[in-house]
Amino acid sequence: MSGWYKFFSRCPVPGCEDEGRKLWTHANCGGAMYINCAAFLGCGTCGDIYSVARSAFICAGHGNEFSQPSAMSIFYMSAIGGDVATTFKDVGWGLRLQASLQQVAESFR
Ligand SMILES: [Zn+2]
Ligand SMILES: [Zn+2]
Repeated sequence: MSGWYKFFSRCPVPGCEDEGRKLWTHANCGGAMYINCAAFLGCGTCGDIYSVARSAFICAGHGNEFSQPSAMSIFYMSAIGGDVATTFKDVGWGLRLQASLQQVAESFR
């Protein structure tokens, strides 16, 4: 999947107590999730694709329930664009992801 990188992030659900970064996996099939610079998440195993704006996240830190991120937490996630760009030396991709996530955050207001 060109332009897609493995989705390592802390949990974007507001108030979640798990602050560790982790590789997210697809609840339906267990495959690793990837992110592209348009802020879509894609499963590397079954190929399902979701907008970050419509994705729900589950982890023990917020009680193992599917919950959606808030505008603020999406905005915070835009920092991962910079992280990924540094890791993969793909600065243009990181900047595009940051812009896409900021648009998602603004669409929540
Ligand atoms: Zn899947
Ligand atoms: Zn969580």
